[in-house]
Amino acid sequence: MPVVASIKPSAHLAEVRYEIRGALNRRARDMEASGLDIIKLNIGNPGRYGFEAPAHLREAVASHLHQSDAYGHEQGLELAREAIAEQQRARGARGVDIEHIFIGNGVSELIDLSLRALLQPGDEVLLPSPDYPLWSAATILNDGTPRYYRCLAENDHLPDPDEIEALVTPRTRALVLINPNNPTGAVYPRALLERLVAVAARHKLLLLCDEIYDEVLYDGAVFQPLAEVAGDLPCVSFGGLSKVHRACGYRVGWMSLSGSHALTADYRDALQLLAALRLCANMAVQWAVPPALHSAPTINALTAAGGRLHEARRLVMEGVAASRHLDLVAPAGALYAFPRVRAESFGEFDDNAFALRLLEEESVLVVPGSSFNVPRSHHFRLTLLPPPAQLMEVFVRIDRVLERMASE
Ligand code: PLP
Repeated sequence: MPVVASIKPSAHLAEVRYEIRGALNRRARDMEASGLDIIKLNIGNPGRYGFEAPAHLREAVASHLHQSDAYGHEQGLELAREAIAEQQRARGARGVDIEHIFIGNGVSELIDLSLRALLQPGDEVLLPSPDYPLWSAATILNDGTPRYYRCLAENDHLPDPDEIEALVTPRTRALVLINPNNPTGAVYPRALLERLVAVAARHKLLLLCDEIYDEVLYDGAVFQPLAEVAGDLPCVSFGGLSKVHRACGYRVGWMSLSGSHALTADYRDALQLLAALRLCANMAVQWAVPPALHSAPTINALTAAGGRLHEARRLVMEGVAASRHLDLVAPAGALYAFPRVRAESFGEFDDNAFALRLLEEESVLVVPGSSFNVPRSHHFRLTLLPPPAQLMEVFVRIDRVLERMASE
C-alpha cells in the first residue's frame, strides 16, 4: 500500500468563513439527530417556516419545464432579462438594456462573478461591517482585500461617508453597500446614498449594491435604488427571487449594470465571458421572473400592519424591551433583527460563547455578531421568520441564558 498524503485544501480558504451555516449549525444538526427540537433562527430561508412562493411563480416554472431542456443564453432568459431591465429603468437606472442584465443561480453566484470580473491581486474592496459574509468571502477568494467601514448601532447602523472616504487607497476598486441591510435591517436614506455616490465618483470606485431585500420594508420605510442616485456612474444592482418572492430554493438572482456605456463596456464584456464559462443559469426557474416582476410584490401583505413579518418584528422588539440585558435598533427592512447585549450587563462579552450556550442550554440557534465580520461584537442575529408564538418563547430562553451569564 503506497503512503498517501492527505489532500490539502487551498490556502485561500484559511481566511474564508460562513458561520451562518458553520460550526454552530453543525452542532445544532447533531443535537437534532439525537432527538432534540432546535429552534433554528440562523438562516433567512422563508420556505422553512411555512412561507410559500406565490402560486403564479410556481405555475410559471411548472408550465415551462418542457421548454427547459437546453442550455440557454449565458446572461439569462431574454423575457426574464427584459422584465428586470424594465424594473431597473423604472427605478431610474441609466443605460440598462438586456445586455446589461445577468441572471445567475442566486445572487450568491453573481456576487462572486462581479468581483471575479473586477479584482487584481491586492485590490481593495470597501465592505460594511457587519456584512453579509459572502461579500468578504468572495473578495478574498478573488484575491482582493476587504477594507471594512463600520455601521454602528449608535448611528442606527448607517455608514459614515467620511469614514469610508478615509479608507480609500490607490488600490481601492469598489464600494459595496447592502440596502436594505442584512444583518442590521437598516434602510439607507437618499441623502446618505448621495454622499456615498459622491465618494465613489471622487475615487472612481465601482458601486456594488446588494438590494436583495428591496421590497421587504416595515413601518413606512422607503427603499431608494442606488442606480438612480448613481446616474452615469458604473453601478451594479443585485436582486432576486429568494427573499421578496420567498423562493430561495429556485436559486434565481440577477444583477443589473447601469451607468455610462463608455465606462462599463469592458467590465460588461468581462462579466459576459465569466457567465459564458459556466454556460447558463438553471433555465426552468427563470420563467418565474416575468410574473414576479409584472405583479405587485406579495411580500407587502406580510410586512404591512397585521402581516406575519410585521407581527414578528413587533414581538422581537417587545422581547428585547422586556429584557434588561438587550437593546435593538428596530429593523426598517429585511428579514432579521440584530439585537445588542448591553455592555453594562457584561463588560467583556463573548458572542460565540453566548450563542453556544443558547444552543446547548436552551436549544435556540442564532448567529453571533462576529460572524458578520465585526470584531468583538455584542450582537447576535435572528430571523423574523418563525411563527410569533415561537419568537416569544425564544426571548424567554435568551433572557434565561443572559441572566445566568450575568450572575456567574
Ligand atoms: N445577499 C444578501 C444580503 C443575502 O442576505 C443573501 C441571502 O441570505 C444573498 C445575497 C444570497 O441570496 P441568493 O439566495 O439569491 O443567493
